[in-house]
Amino acid sequence: MNQSRKAIYLDHAATTPMRTEVLESMQPYFTEFYGNPSSIHAIGRRANVALDNARRIIADLLGAASREIVFTSGGTEGDNAALRGIALARRHLMGANRIITTPIEHHAVLHTAYDLRDHFGFELTLLPVNAEGIVALRDVEAAVGNGSDVALVSTMYANNEIGTIQPLAEIGELCHHIGVPLHTDAVQAAGKLPLNVNELQVDALSVSAHKFYGPKGVGFLYLRRGTPYQPVQTGGSHEGDRRAGTENVPGIVGLAKAFALAEADRPQEAERLHLLREQLIGGILEEIAGVTLTGARTARVSNIASFIIAGVEAEGLLIGLDLAGIAAGSGSACASGSQRPSHVLEAIGIPPMEAQGALRFSLGRANQPEDISYVLETLPKIVTQIRSSAPVAL
Ligand code: PLP
Repeated sequence: MNQSRKAIYLDHAATTPMRTEVLESMQPYFTEFYGNPSSIHAIGRRANVALDNARRIIADLLGAASREIVFTSGGTEGDNAALRGIALARRHLMGANRIITTPIEHHAVLHTAYDLRDHFGFELTLLPVNAEGIVALRDVEAAVGNGSDVALVSTMYANNEIGTIQPLAEIGELCHHIGVPLHTDAVQAAGKLPLNVNELQVDALSVSAHKFYGPKGVGFLYLRRGTPYQPVQTGGSHEGDRRAGTENVPGIVGLAKAFALAEADRPQEAERLHLLREQLIGGILEEIAGVTLTGARTARVSNIASFIIAGVEAEGLLIGLDLAGIAAGSGSACASGSQRPSHVLEAIGIPPMEAQGALRFSLGRANQPEDISYVLETLPKIVTQIRSSAPVAL
């Protein structure tokens, strides 16, 4: 790597750097306003005011009511809470025993659905997806039927590996019409797509702050009023009895600040990233032979560009890119390094051998056109080098 060149970070779907404004908003809540928001004294009440403000800011941005926001430790907890909390409550209340989801969900949803099937006796229906990773409405309709046995439907908004966006509002309308709750994992969509819960007609939606320049380990679950819900984490009566545990006040203040900033920037930033992403996709497809774009061509979140590069393995590619000062990913952060082919690529019909060459670039605020030019200059050389030194039969 040229030592004078700053590293180019293109792995924003894994995590993002925290914004200075977010850090500054959080700082007083570690040392000055350190109270427990459940305490009655003034120091505690000060922290509670911060929680109320954060809840209202987030609710307003979603078109929701403050009491519909439950603070969590991030996307994984929000997904777990939505699936377990709603499925168990709906089974208890009305005997609904089936969960419907897609095979391209993040493991936070998918492994939770498997656990509910394998250890709690739920039936599981996995909806088919097409080669772009999109669910067809008629398949949702067929799977839901009259809805009487369905505990919940969970379909993610934007996919973390291939960037594909689901027709969520249409799925929402369908579920709403039949009276079945719909959860969406909006972790990759937050700050990139509008998240008005009434337009989307979702009943539960999970979000994580570290994907939009907020702190790690904090997020929220939107839970529509009236949605049956059985708390997963029990203890004190925090968060309206839906999630026990003293709230992470500085984290929640940072989450609200980061979400407000991301929403304010969203229209122009989505447009800017879209252009950079297209420059990257066009350049890679043109410059390198044997490359396939994975995911949807148009129904794609603004910042994700993902590819299969024939004849190379992602690990070598990522190391080569890293040495050249470019941080990219091979799919989801948890799948990288595990050597197991991605379940998302498998679901869209990519054979396991080919899936070894998966490469994901996810763009963010600091990226500029010259970063993309540098990638387009560097990546073909790395691919040629790997292909010539270690040919892999793919
Ligand atoms: N859902 C999706 C789509 C994600 O991309 C991630 C993180 O990569 C998660 C859930 C998990 O979120 P967290 O890291 O906050 O637990």
